[in-house]
Amino acid sequence: MSMQPRKILSRKRIALVAHDNRKAELMDWAYYNRTTLSRHQLYGTGTTGKMLEEVLDQSVTKLLSGPLGGDQQIGAMIAEERIDLLIFFWDPMAAQPHDPDIKALLRLCVVWNIPMACNRATADFLLTSPLMYEDYDARQVDYSGYLKRKM
Ligand code: PGA
Repeated sequence: MSMQPRKILSRKRIALVAHDNRKAELMDWAYYNRTTLSRHQLYGTGTTGKMLEEVLDQSVTKLLSGPLGGDQQIGAMIAEERIDLLIFFWDPMAAQPHDPDIKALLRLCVVWNIPMACNRATADFLLTSPLMYEDYDARQVDYSGYLKRKM
């Protein structure tokens, strides 16, 4: 399978989402990392985005709330190469009404080789990577052979 380069610029387009039981942790993490986050362009699902704007005093592009389609909007933006990185503090202890949307979002991150953190430690490793300050060539798997086989 060949790999195509996909340029991720130094100013990253970061999507952030947190389920209700994990919002406090995401806000705490975001505030701690406010200086780093201020260098990037932020997107969030409705409630998460609104809370982030207040905590960070930084503008956040707010999408729909997760259960109303916000996760799907982020997924579509990933497929359109409009999001570079995802921080998603999902709740492993509670069933979500929009579970299929969450699964679809996580899948698209793998399809599109998107750096994705689903817990605080991974988010710390991601945000402190030197690659956050540089342009980066993400190696995108070329799925065209797979699609041809399907047709
Ligand atoms: P919210 O959506 O930020 O609007 O709460 C998050 C989610 O539940 O996926």
